[in-house]
Amino acid sequence: MFDYLIVGAGLYGAVCARELTDAGKTVLVIDKRDHIAGNVYTEKVEGINVHKYGAHIFHTNSKQVWEFVQRFATFNRFTNSPVANYRGELYSLPFNIYTFNKMWGVVTPEEAAEKIAEQRKEITGEPKNLEEQAISLVGRDIYEKLIKGYTEKQWGRDCKDLPSFIIRRLPVRLTFDNNYFNALYQGIPVGGYTKMVENMLEGIEVRLKEDYLQKKEEYDRMAETVIYTGPIDAYFNYRFGPLEYRSVRFETEVLDIPSFQGNAAVNYTDRETPWTRIIEHKWFEFGKDENGNELPKTVISKEYSSEWKPGDEPYYPVNDERNTDLFLKYKEEADKEKNVVFGGRLGEYKYYDMDQVIGVAMEKARSLAGR
Ligand code: UDP
Repeated sequence: MFDYLIVGAGLYGAVCARELTDAGKTVLVIDKRDHIAGNVYTEKVEGINVHKYGAHIFHTNSKQVWEFVQRFATFNRFTNSPVANYRGELYSLPFNIYTFNKMWGVVTPEEAAEKIAEQRKEITGEPKNLEEQAISLVGRDIYEKLIKGYTEKQWGRDCKDLPSFIIRRLPVRLTFDNNYFNALYQGIPVGGYTKMVENMLEGIEVRLKEDYLQKKEEYDRMAETVIYTGPIDAYFNYRFGPLEYRSVRFETEVLDIPSFQGNAAVNYTDRETPWTRIIEHKWFEFGKDENGNELPKTVISKEYSSEWKPGDEPYYPVNDERNTDLFLKYKEEADKEKNVVFGGRLGEYKYYDMDQVIGVAMEKARSLAGR
C-alpha cells in the first residue's frame, strides 16, 4: 500500500512525486505511455534533442519555480524568438518595431504607436472575442497577416469564436525586443527534458505502459490517495459528453544539411500552408551537441493541428464557453471524489504553461504533505 498513486509521469505527476517523496510519503507513479515526461518528452536523434510532442521552451517569472527546476537540470540561455512566414514574407515575433517596420515602414516607436492607434479605432468598447482583441492590440493588418490564419489553423475555429485571452499571451512591444516571453527566467534544460524529469523521479518507483482507467479499481486499492493527471472527462467515462481538445500531429524528418531555417521556430501564418509551424530542434541548443561540436545534420518537425478524437493525444484544452461550462460539471463531480486529486493541463482542463504546472503541483503536493 502506497500513500500516493500518481497517474501520469508528466510534469505535474513528477513534481508531486518528488515533493511527496521528500516529505516522507510513499509514492508509485504509473503512466500509460512507454516513457516518462509526458508531453515534454525529448528523444535524441542524430545527436539532437527532439521535442517529440512539440516545442517546449521553459520560461517563468517565479523564482521559486526557477530554483526548483535548477535542482534537476542546468538550463541554457535559449531565448525564444520565432519568425512568422506569411507567403514568403518574414516578420519578427512577437510584435515589435522590426515587425511594424516590415509591415508599415514605420521607424520610431511613436510612428508605430500612431499606426496601431489608427487601426485599432475600428474596435469600440471591450473586445468580445479573439479577433476584436487582436485588432485592438495591433490593428487589422497584423491581424490579417500574422494572427488570423495561424490561429484558425491552430484552433480549427473562427477567431470570432475564440476567447480573447489566447492572444493576450503574446507581448506587443514598441521596442526592438523580440523575446517571445515576458519572463525573468528562460532556457532549455541541457541534455533534454526527459533527463530533467528522470532526475525528478530519481529513487521513485515508476511503472510504464500501465493504463489506470483500464484497471481503476485494482489501482485504487494500492494507495490512500490518487493524483490523477489524465483528462478529467475520461476519468468520468465522458458522463456528460466529451470535452474538446486540440491535438497536434508532427511530421519529423532528418535532413542531411546543417540548417533548414536557421531558427528554432518558424510560424506559417497564412491559411493555405497546412502546417502551423516548423520546429528545427537543433536551434534550441544552438546547433551544437553537449561538447560544443557543430552537428552536421538537422531534424525538423512540421506541426499540424487537428481536432482531438478518441485515440489521439490531447494537447490543448479548448477553453471556449461551451467547454468551460462542461468542464465545470466535471469539476463538480471531481470535487465529490474522495481521495482523488485532479491536476495538470488535462486534469484541470487549463492552458497551463510548464512553469504554471510546476507551480501548482508544488503547492498541491506541499499542502497534501502538510508542509
Ligand atoms: N499566435 C498568432 N500568430 C503567431 C503565433 C501565435 O496569432 O505567429 C496566436 C495564436 O492565437 C495562438 C496564440 O497566439 O493560439 C498563442 O500562441 P503560443 O505560441 O503561445 O501558443 P503555444 O506555443 O502554446 O502553442
